Amino acid sequence: MLAGDWSADLGGGTHVSLVQAGTFRSDAGALFGPVPRILWDRLVTDEIDQEHRLLQALNCLVVETPAGRVLIETGIGERVTDKVREMRRYEGRPIVAAMEAGGFEPGTVDLVVMSHLHFDHAGGLLRADGAKAFPRARIVAQRAEWEIALDDNSRIVASYDQPELRLVHEWGTEGAVDGERELLPGVSVIRTGGHSKGHQAIVVRGTNQALAFFGDLGMRPWSANPRWITAFDDFPLDSVEVKGELFARAAAEQWLVTLSHEPVTPVGRLTPDRDRFRFDPV
Ligand SMILES: [Zn+2]
Repeated sequence: MLAGDWSADLGGGTHVSLVQAGTFRSDAGALFGPVPRILWDRLVTDEIDQEHRLLQALNCLVVETPAGRVLIETGIGERVTDKVREMRRYEGRPIVAAMEAGGFEPGTVDLVVMSHLHFDHAGGLLRADGAKAFPRARIVAQRAEWEIALDDNSRIVASYDQPELRLVHEWGTEGAVDGERELLPGVSVIRTGGHSKGHQAIVVRGTNQALAFFGDLGMRPWSANPRWITAFDDFPLDSVEVKGELFARAAAEQWLVTLSHEPVTPVGRLTPDRDRFRFDPV
């Protein structure tokens, strides 16, 4: 079961809506990384399949502010072969169709912000025919992420869809940023590294409430423990450290948090819990 539409008014004319751009499946052991199976097994009994994979939603956010409209993440998109679709068990509406079903016109997006450039976050920039999915948008990822994404290290080659990224490289790098930056009043990115070299978090502040999207540092409810990181994290010590810092801020300031791949309870808040945090869905 997938979460229904969710949206929130953050105050001051800033409104956030969750748009799920389909689902796919990933190996459970890889998602839990260093965590022993005996600790996570019972958390996923309902969703694990015969191939030991978990159901991963492709959670995207549309942020409407008085200064412009922002899309956070683009999912896997339309440009996948039947073979890849089957291999990843990719199902549901890609981002453009999902936005349209939610009443949002992709042509009105001013900024597309991605936490990082892995295939399941940057796959939706182009339509099936190769046209820009968000023709007037500036693309915002970290410059360091564009640099590492096209590296020739074989692990990097396996993590990114490099032929697709080359097609959007010029469009994407025009809008690249370094470090922490306010993109529009109330919409900021913070470089985190960890999961990938140029991974970034996105924080949206209205007059009443703030909301954070921690990308794949906050994938699922159990990600609230800074030490529960995936085997896909290229810089695990950085992930643990930055999660501890950002989650402490999110808990202290009562930010809403949207998880990147949680299918059922994607929005909640973080609460300190012993030497970790707990994710409480709203
Ligand atoms: Zn991901």
